[in-house]
Amino acid sequence: MIINKEKCLKCGGCVSVCPVQALKLESELKCDNDKCIKCKACINFCPVGALKLEVSK
Ligand code: SF4
Ligand code: SF4
Repeated sequence: MIINKEKCLKCGGCVSVCPVQALKLESELKCDNDKCIKCKACINFCPVGALKLEVSK
């Protein structure tokens, strides 16, 4: 998960929609990529398009 920190409003919405609690909002938003199941719920939720999924091979 790639977080565009310039776009992110730190609204916390993506944190609450994540089914596996991979996202954490502290001083900035962070994603635990080992937990992330790539469901894209956070991407669909984010009002400013700050989240992107990096396609890993
Ligand atoms: S893609 Fe899904 S599992 Fe991964 S951080 Fe976003 S909401 Fe959580
Ligand atoms: S939903 Fe978007 S703007 Fe809100 S905290 Fe998540 S990444 Fe940032």
